[in-house]
Amino acid sequence: MEKARGRYTPGLEAASTGYSAAQTRTGAMIAMSSRTITMSDRLHAYLLNTVSREPEILARLRAETGPMEFGAMQISPEQGELMAFLARLHGVRRYLEIGTFTGYSALAVALALPEDGRVTACDVSEEWTAIARRYWLEAGVADRIDLHLAPAIETLDGLLAEGRAGSYDFIFIDADKPNYDGYYERALKLVRPGGLIGVDNVLWGGSVADPDNVEESTQAIRRLNVKMQADARVDYVLLPVGDGLALARRR
Ligand code: CA
Repeated sequence: MEKARGRYTPGLEAASTGYSAAQTRTGAMIAMSSRTITMSDRLHAYLLNTVSREPEILARLRAETGPMEFGAMQISPEQGELMAFLARLHGVRRYLEIGTFTGYSALAVALALPEDGRVTACDVSEEWTAIARRYWLEAGVADRIDLHLAPAIETLDGLLAEGRAGSYDFIFIDADKPNYDGYYERALKLVRPGGLIGVDNVLWGGSVADPDNVEESTQAIRRLNVKMQADARVDYVLLPVGDGLALARRR
């Protein structure tokens, strides 16, 4: 009854959740179990500095990229760790990414691949990928990364024309948002059955939920989110990691 009036009652919560009264005394446990935690600066620093396994070379690449004009485009370190973990979990040997920027995600995954693993990276910027190449070389993985400097739709169509359909284990989409649907449809052809597709920025700073935001990129992301949710060709989950990461497994 107390709860119904908005007051917190440890005993009541404990009975309904299985948590002990001691665990629920602050109410923190309940809040954490019902909604993704808010990432304060202090908590984020703990995540990065105390419990992260981010390799030192990736931390340096992140530090160099961060202050750049579009530095906020690089994925968050915890997302890089998740992608590397997924690559290992899924036995990924062929990774394709659409949107490489300064190379963080490509390097995070490349470091998680077996000796014969290959990365195919798509971007249009010579300037950004020059930074990427420098770090790939230093990390000793440059020889396993094929960089395609061209509009990604052309590169993907080229790969399909070469007969690469169904040959990738993991495809990550993180480029210009208006082309997201075109990338997704091509990725579905290029990934093997059972393979994984990741789509980045699907929460788009929260603007996907703002009805007043009708920007082209926002609308393109909204359309793809709804399409993926209903897409019977894939298993699907949208994770509130970084700026939102949708994962799809081709059925
Ligand atoms: Ca991104």
